[in-house]
Amino acid sequence: MLKIENLTSHYGRIQALHGVDLEVNEGELVALVGGNGAGKTTLLRTISGLQPASSGTVSFEGSDITDMAAEKRVPLDIAQVPEGRQVFTALSVEDNIRLGAFTKKDKVEIESDLESMYGRFPILKEKRNQAAGTLSGGQQQMLAMARALMSRPRLLLLDEPSMGLSPVLVMEIFAIVEELKEQGVTIFLVEQNATAALRVADRGYVMETGKITLTDSGEKLLNDETVKAAYLGI
Ligand code: ATP
Repeated sequence: MLKIENLTSHYGRIQALHGVDLEVNEGELVALVGGNGAGKTTLLRTISGLQPASSGTVSFEGSDITDMAAEKRVPLDIAQVPEGRQVFTALSVEDNIRLGAFTKKDKVEIESDLESMYGRFPILKEKRNQAAGTLSGGQQQMLAMARALMSRPRLLLLDEPSMGLSPVLVMEIFAIVEELKEQGVTIFLVEQNATAALRVADRGYVMETGKITLTDSGEKLLNDETVKAAYLGI
């Protein structure tokens, strides 16, 4: 579904990606783990078109989208939940969710999707008329996910969904991620919390200073000595 080949990207003279190769197949949950500044966010931004590639290719379902403008990628049904969630704090919870359906025209479908989001995230229903800024970190993460799901994405890009959350909420968010996968959403999950991410992932990639240094099944990476030492605090 998503194929990245020999991708490089720069911020001015700083090279953030050094020839990245990575693949996400339809229906898979793939995790990308790595420390601070490894280039994970940069890679996500090249997939959504927010950061230009210097060389290499990003293909989606066989089409080269490397140089396609971000807004032209919207109909491809790729949705990104950005790092730090970025909900509109002054808008109500419900208005934030509805924003995710801004490209949709079918009103009946939008209302039914909204109800299904409330079914999946009951706390958002309870707080639907409150300003999004009044939600806790975990609730804002759920809101950002609900907003992304309203576009009915086929590929969901999640940037550090566990950031700033308590261990209990991290478990809750990852349970939702697994549930989404079971419902057929293809997921590319970027995480510093390698343990949580590799536990749910079918496959994983480890990134260090802009390069992929290891790739294997989530389970094998969890048991890999170098991964344990570097990322799992074992
Ligand atoms: P984190 O988890 O901390 O967000 P990351 O793995 O997502 O880390 P990136 O944010 O992609 O890493 O950063 C990769 C490299 O690019 C880092 O060396 C970083 O300092 C640099 N970088 C990121 N954004 C910019 C920018 N706007 N201008 C200059 N350099 C940047």
